[in-house]
Amino acid sequence: MQTVLYFDFCSIPIFIIILITVFVRRMTRGISNKMFIMLLILSSLSAISDVIMEYAYRELPISPERMLTAQLSSYLYFICRNASVYLYTFFIFSITGTWYRVKSFARKVIVSIPFALLILILLSNPFTGIVFDIAADKGYSRGSCIFILYLISLLYAVFGTIYLLSCSRFITKDKLIPLISLYFFVAGGAVFQYFFPQYLVEMISTSMSTILLILFVLRPEEISDASVGSLSFDAYRLELQKILYTKQRVKIAFLNITNATELRSYLGEERYLSYVSHVITQLDIKFTRERIFFGIYFEHPGTIMIIVDDDKFDIKAAFRNMYGEIRRNFDKLAISGERMNVKACSLVIPDDLTDCDEIIRFGRSFASQMPASRMFADASELISSNDYKMISNIDSILNRAISENRFRMYYQPIYSFERGRFISAEALIRLNDDEYGSIPPGLFIPAAEKRGVILPIGDFVLEDVHRFISENDFDALGLEYIEINLSVAQCLQEELPVKLALLSDRYGVSPDKVNLEITETTYEEVGTVMETNLAALTGMGYTFSLDDYGTGYSNMQRVSKLPLKMVKLDKSLVDDMATEDGRSIVRNTVKMMRDIDKELVAEGVETKDRLDELEKMGCHFIQGYYFSKPLPADKFIAFIKEHNVNTAK
Ligand code: C2E
Ligand code: CA
Ligand code: CA
Repeated sequence: MQTVLYFDFCSIPIFIIILITVFVRRMTRGISNKMFIMLLILSSLSAISDVIMEYAYRELPISPERMLTAQLSSYLYFICRNASVYLYTFFIFSITGTWYRVKSFARKVIVSIPFALLILILLSNPFTGIVFDIAADKGYSRGSCIFILYLISLLYAVFGTIYLLSCSRFITKDKLIPLISLYFFVAGGAVFQYFFPQYLVEMISTSMSTILLILFVLRPEEISDASVGSLSFDAYRLELQKILYTKQRVKIAFLNITNATELRSYLGEERYLSYVSHVITQLDIKFTRERIFFGIYFEHPGTIMIIVDDDKFDIKAAFRNMYGEIRRNFDKLAISGERMNVKACSLVIPDDLTDCDEIIRFGRSFASQMPASRMFADASELISSNDYKMISNIDSILNRAISENRFRMYYQPIYSFERGRFISAEALIRLNDDEYGSIPPGLFIPAAEKRGVILPIGDFVLEDVHRFISENDFDALGLEYIEINLSVAQCLQEELPVKLALLSDRYGVSPDKVNLEITETTYEEVGTVMETNLAALTGMGYTFSLDDYGTGYSNMQRVSKLPLKMVKLDKSLVDDMATEDGRSIVRNTVKMMRDIDKELVAEGVETKDRLDELEKMGCHFIQGYYFSKPLPADKFIAFIKEHNVNTAK
C-alpha cells in the first residue's frame, strides 16, 4: 500500500513559517513563548522524522543502509510526538497564568510520571519490541503495548482539557477554545490515520491547531508593550487581580528609574525608551538565568515590575550587580553627563499588601520614600513607616487640611554676609494633621500638585505671607523681603500677575518685599505663559530666585538668560563640600554666578565650618539650621529682634 505523504510535507513549512513569525514578532521572551517555540521545534521534528520514516520503509525488504535511518527516525518520531503532548501540559499551566500550581518540584514530578513511564517503555523497545518492531522483510509493525503510549497521551489530553475548563475564569473563550481544540486536532488526526494509514494527516492537523494558537492565544499585541519589549501595564493589573483572586504567594521586584521624567525630556521619548528596553533585556537575561518563573511589566514613564512566582526568591541578591551594570551600560550609550538613577524594592503578596490598587500605587511611589543613599528596600519596612501611611492617606489628609484651614507658614531666616544681619526669610508651609502629626511639605506639595489642589494652597501661601509682611515693620526689623516658593501650576496661571497686584494693593505690600522662587523644571516645562508672567512680574518690581540649583541639569547659559536676581544653591551641593571636589564645584559656581551678576544663597548650611568656607568663597547669603530652622511667624520675629538688634538700618 502506497502512503500519501503530501499532508506531512505540507505541515513542515507551516511549522517553520510559524517559527519564523515567532522570532520576527519578537515573541521570544517569557516562559509561554519559550515553550511555544519548543513545541514548534518538537512538531517540526516529528513531521520531518515521519517523512523520513516513510521513505525508509517504502521498499521492502529494508536494505541494511536504510535500517539505521528507519530505526532512528522511528524513535525520534515517537519521542518528539509524545514529548510535545507532555510539554503542552506545562504550556497550559503557563498560558493560563497558573504556573504556581506546578511550581513545586513534587508537582512537576507528578505531572511528569506518565511521560517518564512512556520513555521507559520506549527505551525498552529495542529489546522487547513492545511498541513497534522493524524487520527487514516485513517493515514496520505495531507492538502489543503501543496502546499504552496512546493511553498516556490520552491521559494528558483529558487532564489538559479538564484543567483548561476549570480555568475558564482566567482565560477568555476565544483563547480557551483554540487551546482545547489542539487535543481534538491531534486526536482526530491520530484516529483518522489509524483507520486510513495511507493518509499521513496527523501532522497537518497538528499544524492547523498551531495556527489557531498563534492567531488566537499568543497575541503579544494584547499584553505587551512594544515600545520597550515588556509586558504591558494592563497585563500587570490583570495578573495582580488573578494573583489576589487565587491567593497565590508571589514576590514583585520593582525597579524605579527615579529621574525618568528628566531623562525623557532630555533624550526624547524614543531614545529614552530604547534605553529602558535595554535595561529590560538585561533583567530578562538575569532572571532567566535564575531559573524562576517571572514576567516583566513596564509602566510609563519609568517603573519596571517583575512578578516572580517564588516568594523565597532573593531579589536583593539578584539586583546586587544590576545597578552598576545599568549605569555602566547607560553611560556607554548616552552622551556624557546624564545618568540613569534607579531604586529597587521587593514586595511579597499577600504579606505586605493585598489590594490591587494599593500595590500599583506602591510601585509608583516607593522610590520617593527611600533615603537618597539607599538603592534597595523591602516593602515591609517602607509600608510600616509613618511616611507610607501618610502617602497612602494623603487624599483625605489634604481634603481635611483645605477644608479646616490647617496650613501654617513658617519662616527660615536668611543671613547676609555683606550687611552682617538677617535680611530675609524663606516662607515654608507647614501642615499639622490630627491623626498623622506634622506632614512634611516635600510629601504633600507634590501630592497636591498631582491632585490639582495646589492652587488653593498656593493662594493661601501668597495671602498669608502678604499679611505677615503688612503686620510687621520690616524696616525697623532690618528685613528686606520674603522668599515665596511658586509651584509649576501657579506659574502657569495667566492671572498670577493680577493676583499678586491685588494682594499688593490690599495689604499695602510693595513688590520689592516679595521674592519668588522658581525651579528650573518649572521654567523648562511651562514655556510661554511662564515667560509672559516672568516678564510682567519683573516689570511690576518682583524679583526671582532660581531654587534648587545643582539638582537638575543646571545650565549656566540658561541661567544667565533668565531674569533672575538670585540663585539658591541646593543643600546637596553644600553637603558635597565635605570633599575637595565638592568644594571646588561650589567655589567655581559662586565665581561664575558672581561673574553673571547673580546673588547666591547657600541652603542647608548646618555648621560653622561650612559657613566660613562659603563666606571665603564669596557667597552672598546663608540659609540653614546653623542659624535657625524654619520658625512660626511670632518666633521668627522674636529671633530677628534678638539678632538684628544693633544692625537694623
Ligand atoms: P525648598 O524650597 O528647597 O526648601 C528648603 C528646604 O530645606 C526646607 O524644607 C527647609 O526646612 C530645609 N532646610 C533648610 N535649611 C536646612 C538645613 O540646614 N538642614 C536641613 N536638613 N534642611 C534644611 P521643607 O520646609 O521641608 O520644604 C521642602 C520643600 O517643600 C521645599 O524645598 C519646597 O520645594 C516645598 N515647599 C515648602 N513650602 C512651600 C510652599 O509654600 N509652596 C510651595 N509651592 N512649595 C513649598
Ligand atoms: Ca525654596
Ligand atoms: Ca531649595
